[in-house]
Amino acid sequence: MIKAESIAELTAVIRKWKKEGKSIGFVPTMGFLHEGHLTLINQAKSENDAVVISIFVNPLQFGPNEDFDAYPRSMERDLQVSESAGADLVFAPDAKEMYKGEPAAAITVTKRVNVLCGKSRPGHFDGVAAVLTKLFHLTQPDRAYFGMKDAQQVAVVKGLVDEFYFPLEVVSVETVRESDGLAKSSRNVYLTEQERAEAPHLQKALQKAAKMAAAGERDAGKLEGHIKDYLSTHTTAEIDYAEVLSYPELAPPAEDSKEIILAAAIKFSKARLIDNITIKLKL
Ligand code: AMP
Repeated sequence: MIKAESIAELTAVIRKWKKEGKSIGFVPTMGFLHEGHLTLINQAKSENDAVVISIFVNPLQFGPNEDFDAYPRSMERDLQVSESAGADLVFAPDAKEMYKGEPAAAITVTKRVNVLCGKSRPGHFDGVAAVLTKLFHLTQPDRAYFGMKDAQQVAVVKGLVDEFYFPLEVVSVETVRESDGLAKSSRNVYLTEQERAEAPHLQKALQKAAKMAAAGERDAGKLEGHIKDYLSTHTTAEIDYAEVLSYPELAPPAEDSKEIILAAAIKFSKARLIDNITIKLKL
């Protein structure tokens, strides 16, 4: 496995692979790899000749009062995990390599950002879109892999790729969970023992509301109310949001919505957790 810290090292390898006619699968991450990331890597491996993982905690997608400095990092372990997962290249630049001073241009995401995490984290998806635009150009993937744990990110990235005609396919991968239902996340290490015990209720709250939706409840406000009530009864966390929207449009559900998403975010003392369930609706 190759480790590239500079853009020059990365592009030399990509150029060689392209010449050899290899297809490239790309898995962008912020590191501190867990089984969720591994599932993306495995799928990328099964569908491409070469797999690139990026490990980069992107400062641009963190707000001023968010956890950029505290975000867990473990480069040595991540490299071992990537190698044993069969990755061909890990791109691990520092911030100076990715952002060389005052930016000459920026990306503004204009759709699907006034809800969910986009609403509570202003500018977050502009930062995601900016770094992915750079990474897509540098790695030239045939396919890029994203987890449905971040369902809004999947929708936003598909919008970005469609809007700017990036010649790649966005592949979404189901959320990988702990045995008690908690979505795997790098941030779970920051849960206290009590918070860790409460955290699976995030998925449970969504499941309860999903059952009601599957049974025909279409009133988004009612479903959101149930999610919030369940969370406030079963956890000590602060509720950031609970929303029910159409997917992938992320608009209020309509009569003809084919799919809906039930999503929530909660804040514990040091970790903010998100989760969602998407449901295909029979018309
Ligand atoms: P992150 O390192 O948190 O930025 O995540 C990198 C990629 O892994 C994103 O596409 C995430 O959606 C995905 N991911 C994170 N956690 C999970 C999970 N539990 N299951 C599936 N994919 C995940």
